[in-house]
Amino acid sequence: MKQSKTPLGIYVHIPFCRSKCLYCDFYSLPQAEDRIKRYVKALCANISQIAQYTGGYQVDTVYFGGGTPTLLSERYLTDILERIAQRFHMGRDAEITIEANPESAQNWRALRRLRRGGFNRLSLGVQAADDALLRAVGRIHTFADVERSVEALRRAGFRNFSADLIYGLPGQSQAAWMDSLERTLALGPEHLSCYGLKVEEGTPLHRRQKELSLPDDDTQADMYLSAVQMLTSGGYEHYEISNFARPGFASRHNLKYWTLQEYAGFGPGAHSDLGEMRYAYARDLEGYMAGALAGTLETDQAERLPERERDTEYIMLSLRTSAGISKAVFEHRYRRRFAPLEAVLRRYEQLGCAQPTEEGWRLTAKGFLLSNTIITDLWEAHGQEKLRREAAAASGDFRVEL
Ligand code: SF4
Repeated sequence: MKQSKTPLGIYVHIPFCRSKCLYCDFYSLPQAEDRIKRYVKALCANISQIAQYTGGYQVDTVYFGGGTPTLLSERYLTDILERIAQRFHMGRDAEITIEANPESAQNWRALRRLRRGGFNRLSLGVQAADDALLRAVGRIHTFADVERSVEALRRAGFRNFSADLIYGLPGQSQAAWMDSLERTLALGPEHLSCYGLKVEEGTPLHRRQKELSLPDDDTQADMYLSAVQMLTSGGYEHYEISNFARPGFASRHNLKYWTLQEYAGFGPGAHSDLGEMRYAYARDLEGYMAGALAGTLETDQAERLPERERDTEYIMLSLRTSAGISKAVFEHRYRRRFAPLEAVLRRYEQLGCAQPTEEGWRLTAKGFLLSNTIITDLWEAHGQEKLRREAAAASGDFRVEL
C-alpha cells in the first residue's frame, strides 16, 4: 500500500527592508540590497541541503516573509521557489504566499511574473489608512500606495490577498481605527490580520514611548472587540485571535504554527519544527551566508521535543484558534487528563470567556482578550495535575485514571 507523505510548510525569510519601521522587532536590515545576490545563493544552498532529509514529506504551504520579500527582483523570488519545487515534493495545490509592502508592489507586470512563477497568495502590509499615523511609526508608504498595490495585484491575477493592519498606534483614536478597517475592507481582501501594536524593547518606539500618546489597554480592547464585530458581521470568519478570513481563505501556512504541524524555515532568524527537532538559525546575515555557502551552517538553538511533551504548548496554541482545544486530542495524543482543564474553562464560561464545542472548548472574543490570564490558569491546573500523578506514581499508586 502506498504510504502518504507528511505535510510540510516552508518558510523563507527575506531580511531586507528599504528602511526600518520604528516598532519593528523582526530581523531585517535596511539598505543592505548589495548583499541580495549572495543571499539568494546561500538560501538555495541551504534549501538543497535540508531537502535531502525530507523524503517522507510533501510541501503543502510555502511562505516568503520578511523583511520585505518584494525588494528582491521577481527573478530571484521565482528562482528560490523553483529550487524548493525541484528539491522537495510539492503538493499540486500548495498555498504559496508572498508578503509585500505597498511601496514595492505596484508594478502589475512584475506581480504577474510572480503569479505565473507559482505564488498564489499575497499578504500586503497595509497597517493603517491614515498617512499621518503611518508616518508616525516610520512606515514609508501611504494609503494611496495601498490602493495602487491592490489594483496591481488583482490585475496580475492574485485571487487571494490578505491585508495586515495594526491598531493601537500612537495617537490613533477608535474612530481612526474604524476608518482604517472600513477603507481596507472596501478593497475586498479575502483575509485580514489585525494586530495590536506591541512596543518591543530595543526598538526606537520603545525609547520614545514616554513622548507618545499610546492608546491605553481599555482603548486597545475596545478597538479589538469592535474589529471582531465589524469583520464577523461582514462575513469574515474569526478563525484565530488576530486573523479573519472569507470562508475557505484561512491561511493554511499560519494554521500550521497554531496546530503544531511541521515546517522548515530558511534564512537568519528562521525557526523550524521538523521531525522531533526544533531549531533556529542565528539572526546574523553574514554568518548565515558564509555557513550555508560552505555547507557548515550551524543552528542557534536546537532541542528534541517529542510529541508527547508538547501538551502545554497545545493548550496555548489550540486556544488561539476558533476550533479550540480538543478533549480527545489532549487525552489520546498527550495522554493527560482533561478534567482539571475543564474545571477552569467552566469558570471562564460563567464570565462569558469560554464556551464548549462538540470536541472540547474554545474561547470567545472576550476570552481572546484575556487569553494570557486564562492560559496561565490552565497551565497551573495542568501542572498541579502532573505533580499529583508523579507523586502517586512515586508512591506506587498506579490507580490514577486517565
Ligand atoms: S517593513 Fe516590516 S520587516 Fe521591514 S522594518 Fe517595517 S515592520 Fe520591519
